[in-house]
Amino acid sequence: MSRKDFVTRFAPSPTGRLHAGHAYSALLAHDRARREGGRFLLRIEDIDTTRARPEWVQGIFEDLSWLGLEWEEPVRFQSAHMVDYAAALERLKAMGLLYPCFCTRRDIRTAIAASVSAPHGPLGMIYPGTCRELSAKERSARIAAGENYALRLDVVRAVSLIGGAPLEWSDERHGRQRVDVAAFGDVVLARKDIPVSYHLAVTVDDALQGISHVIRGEDLMAATAVHRLLQALLGLPVPVYRHHALLRDDSGRRLAKRDGAETLADLRARGVKPAEFREWLERKIREE
Ligand code: GLU
Repeated sequence: MSRKDFVTRFAPSPTGRLHAGHAYSALLAHDRARREGGRFLLRIEDIDTTRARPEWVQGIFEDLSWLGLEWEEPVRFQSAHMVDYAAALERLKAMGLLYPCFCTRRDIRTAIAASVSAPHGPLGMIYPGTCRELSAKERSARIAAGENYALRLDVVRAVSLIGGAPLEWSDERHGRQRVDVAAFGDVVLARKDIPVSYHLAVTVDDALQGISHVIRGEDLMAATAVHRLLQALLGLPVPVYRHHALLRDDSGRRLAKRDGAETLADLRARGVKPAEFREWLERKIREE
């Protein structure tokens, strides 16, 4: 069976070598596409030029090939598509949904500490809205003075613009989900140092690449609410999601970068064979 409209992707950020957790995600997306007769794409999420490095991009190719995965060419590099994200930002701006935010992290922490309810959501600190309240005059003066700024989405306004029915998406493991806008606040869509943010780039790319099934770790589940809102605002299709459990070793320890786990390059260097590692990953997938 061939279903060319069944499209999955693996979208690593080249900010280090891949770990077993990445391999798990990539294998899930790859094998699912193969099973469905669909397509498997690889996307390099390298918008953060301060952290991405060419040798890590190379490492991703090497590690995935070692694992025996095959992906379509050409690979999409986000850094080569900044115009696509700028166009999406322009549309949101024309809808009156973006505002410049001059706050530093410290400003935000101070404002939160001073407020009665310290708002924290699944995506971290909820922006208290300081710069949303600035007058047009003050904004232009600060921009004219050369102050650096990020662009934030005015979420309350965005939701009222959409109006009506609650935003939902479906997750193959977690079932139907409803976007709780109050949980994340005015997210950054263009950073001070980079003219886009993860949320916007990932949403635009999943649509442009025709991704029908987004398979990724549960750690990104909360972010999907933001992506769903952006899809509604930009009129983009809504893929099916599958947020998989985070990979743990046989004694329950998480196998991700932040947990100091071994990289695939480490495994390879100590003589682990790809077939043996893949079998182990497949067992983990069956146990999920
Ligand atoms: N680039 C993101 C990461 O490496 C993953 C993006 C996604 O799968 O949506 O964490």
